[in-house]
Order: sequence, then structure tokens, then C-alpha cells
Amino acid sequence: MKLCSACLLGINCRYNGKRKPNEKVINLAVKETLIPVCPEQLGGLATPRIISEIKNNCVVNKEGIDITKNFKQGAEEVLKIVKLYNIKEVILKQRSPSCGCGQIYDGTFSGIIIKGDGITAKLLKENNINVITEEDL
Ligand code: SF4
Repeated sequence: MKLCSACLLGINCRYNGKRKPNEKVINLAVKETLIPVCPEQLGGLATPRIISEIKNNCVVNKEGIDITKNFKQGAEEVLKIVKLYNIKEVILKQRSPSCGCGQIYDGTFSGIIIKGDGITAKLLKENNINVITEEDL
């Protein structure tokens, strides 16, 4: 059993209210249980919502509002689910400010990618959970 970003399974939870199904993740879900979670929704944010990026360790949306608290709350809820089911590996959506693992956008909303982890990916790594992305499959 693994946990995975809900949007990769085709759940309409992205900031723009759209789906981002990933064929490899969907194929994997046929073979083993993947628990779908969206940390941003678990953090109390609406769908659709204003796009956000990480800057100086804070999450700020395109209107300049700091929503770090929501992102941290969502990450804690995901960690609870991971612990509840004793999950050792998660598959998260690359470059998201929550789910990105190793790559995120630079906080300028200009499409520039930098090294870094999303808030949920970071918390899971700190708790010794193996984090991979759909691009690693
Ligand atoms: Fe997908 Fe994660 Fe963004 Fe939710 S927070 S839409 S699961 S990438």
C-alpha cells in the first residue's frame, strides 16, 4: 500500500480545478492500493484556488497572501494518514508547492524551476518516508 497525490489518479483537486491523471500511476493503482490525498485540500484550501509557490520557506499565492499555515496543516494531516497505515513510500506530484520532491517553482510565478521540496514532501522525508514522484515511475 502506498499513498499518492490525488490529482495523479484523476481527482479534480488541482488549484485550477482540473485533473492531472498520470497513466503510470493509474496503472499502478490496478495492482496495489494507492490512497489518494490532496494536502492543499486537507489544509483547508478550496478547489479551485489561487495558484501559489514557495518563496523564502513560505507559501504565498499569486495575490500575495501567505498561506503557509494551510500548507503545513495539510502536510501534518498527510503524515497522520501515512502513520495510520504504516506507509513507507508515497508518490507525489512533481513541482507542486505541497507535493514537489526535489524540484519546485521559484516563487516568481514565471515557470522557473529550482531545487527544493514541497511542504508535504519535506515533512514526509523528515519522517523517513520514501518520497518518489510520478516521473520516477
Ligand atoms: Fe495534486 Fe498535491 Fe496539488 Fe493536491 S496539493 S492538487 S495532490 S499536487
